[in-house]
Amino acid sequence: MKIEHIEAIPLDMQLEEVFKGGTYQVASRPTIVTRVHLANGVVGETYGGDEFHTQTEIVSVMRDHLAPLLLGQDVRDFQRLWEAMFNVNVDLGNRGLHQLDMHPRGILLQAISALDNAMWDARGKLYGVPVYKLLGGSRDSVPVISIGGYYPKNGEDPAEAIAAEVDLVRSVGCMGIKMKVGRASLEEDLARVRAARQAGGPDFVITVDANQGWDPLDAIKFCVAMERADLGVRWMEEPIKWYDQTDGLMLLSTRTTIPINVGQGEISGRACRDLIQKGGVSILNLDCTLCGGVTEWQRVADMAKLMNVEMAHHEEPQVAIHLIAANPHGLFVEIFANKRRDPLLWELPDGFPDIANGYMKVPQEPGFGIRLRPEVIERYRID
Ligand SMILES: [Mg+2]
Repeated sequence: MKIEHIEAIPLDMQLEEVFKGGTYQVASRPTIVTRVHLANGVVGETYGGDEFHTQTEIVSVMRDHLAPLLLGQDVRDFQRLWEAMFNVNVDLGNRGLHQLDMHPRGILLQAISALDNAMWDARGKLYGVPVYKLLGGSRDSVPVISIGGYYPKNGEDPAEAIAAEVDLVRSVGCMGIKMKVGRASLEEDLARVRAARQAGGPDFVITVDANQGWDPLDAIKFCVAMERADLGVRWMEEPIKWYDQTDGLMLLSTRTTIPINVGQGEISGRACRDLIQKGGVSILNLDCTLCGGVTEWQRVADMAKLMNVEMAHHEEPQVAIHLIAANPHGLFVEIFANKRRDPLLWELPDGFPDIANGYMKVPQEPGFGIRLRPEVIERYRID
């Protein structure tokens, strides 16, 4: 079934407030809508990514360098098409994307991801099957947590702020929260996690995310303190600064029983292999809008299963729901319960997400099963 036409549409929307995590802040919500048109009229369509600085470059690589490799090809051949994209040499006239500079690789992998994911939607529609059924179909609904617990604004009481957010997360139907740490002192962050546990009660799922904010010794101090306080934290996410992955993570894993979750900061399956073998991590939250799409994410998930490592997914519930539902070792799907943090999730898809009593239902229509509202795409497109 031949691919006839490909569209890459950049969107961006300004947020009403700025959200602060351990090492960064967020002021807008960009994403890329990708459409893959097949000869029989089927259109694969999805959105993903939230890259701001290099969004234009990603769209250019999709349109000018990767789409020509796919046009006229059979969309069903996902291994062959993925290798063709991954092994492309993108000559930009002055330097290219395959060199030892760090940044360009991320541009290439995000471009591959957007196309690979849209092709999976097309495959599902072609076969008349939801993507999670194509990949394995472990279950029809998935536990859902909310990303939140950003740092309070000036004047807000940190304990009251996190308690209010726990209430909000519950009101949306999530069974837990992933809260930010790593920006304040260890004592202040510990007090915020304790306040979240007090507000949530014993069954509320709490995970903490430092966004690579600490050196290994501070990460050890924080994890040991959380264990001593018996806070019941489900995982510690991205504890250690970017330059000390593997060895730093391995050191931490020998000092704490709290599962360590990393992977959203990596863009290759080989890096995930090293995080397991050399970093001793327990969970990978690889992101299929960054790592090369559903094809590579599922390869990593298969590797992880054989190495007793669980799979999470960083954000992107519109695709992550299918990946977590397909895999028996998948954990939670993540949303932003605060609609001001991710207004696109609540405006762009029609009838998604469907959340109740801590679980999100997997859309049952073919492909990702999510229709994007064309009028919303037109409102926020920036090309
Ligand atoms: Mg994270």
